[in-house]
Amino acid sequence: MTERLDGHTLLIGLMAYPIRHSMSPTMHNNAFAKLGLNFAYLAFEITNEKLPGAIDAIRTLDMRGSNISMPNKQKVIPLLDKLDPATEMIGAVNTVVNDNGVLTGYTTDGIGFMKSLADEGLDIRGKKMTLAGAGGAATPMAIQAALDGVKEISIFNRHDEFFDNAKRNVDIINEKTDCKATLHELEDQDDFKKEIASSYIYADATSVGMNPLQDQTLVTDPTWFSEDQIVFDTVYAPRDTKLMAVAEKAGVKHVFNGLGMMLEQGAAAFKLWTKKDMPVDYIREILF
Ligand code: NAD
Repeated sequence: MTERLDGHTLLIGLMAYPIRHSMSPTMHNNAFAKLGLNFAYLAFEITNEKLPGAIDAIRTLDMRGSNISMPNKQKVIPLLDKLDPATEMIGAVNTVVNDNGVLTGYTTDGIGFMKSLADEGLDIRGKKMTLAGAGGAATPMAIQAALDGVKEISIFNRHDEFFDNAKRNVDIINEKTDCKATLHELEDQDDFKKEIASSYIYADATSVGMNPLQDQTLVTDPTWFSEDQIVFDTVYAPRDTKLMAVAEKAGVKHVFNGLGMMLEQGAAAFKLWTKKDMPVDYIREILF
């Protein structure tokens, strides 16, 4: 590390709170070292209050960019100069790139979701997806899938503070893409079962399955799934979720947790900053 850092090293940040648990510094610094790139990635505890000063620092220190996570993904937007078109639709930013003082916001979670499926040789373009959730992970997944050519998306959410967001995601997909999106209530179990049965992929992007809800799953009955479907859980801690166990019991061939998505969202940000491909197989071995 010390051999690599010198007076020319470019800094990339991670601005979020809390953030000390993040795997991103390990991911990116190991990738820089492997490729011999003169970058360093550091995590900073940044609350909403500290965000304007932190974004100014990207310009002042001529940092190459930053990752942005909760609680700053939406608050950062007015502080940037530009958004890429998909990010404009998503309405949240997880990556900032500094090109000579011009800060552009991107969201790589949806790209990471689609790429993680492609890594497994799976192509959901032209197919139907049922997606549970409408929060920070689900929104980029839905919008990127629609932009990439998924034919139909049935979006389910319970009637909580995210339901309006689910409606917004459906409206924006129908307005701006060729994908047909529909809004569904998670409370309607017959509808949920029917939509999953007619989908090639079921993706759960809710907090269910993750600590403290690690003993729960939205689908408990294996007969809801069939062998040739894809079942994708965005949760990666724990690595084996309750949903995955139900899908495996049903004999589903393609069952995934969110580790591949997490890795590929990082790889997409890495490419934006360095213009190089992250050595993902090497990083996968280090992280997982
Ligand atoms: P969020 O708070 O923005 O959204 C939470 C979503 O879960 C909402 O749609 C909410 O309605 C739903 N929800 C919460 N509790 C529920 C319950 N009991 N029953 C039904 N629905 C419920 O959170 P987020 O940032 O979108 O994270 C959601 C999940 O995605 C988490 O498990 C997180 O670990 C995972 N995630 C994975 C990646 C990755 O790269 N794999 C990235 C981000 C988030």
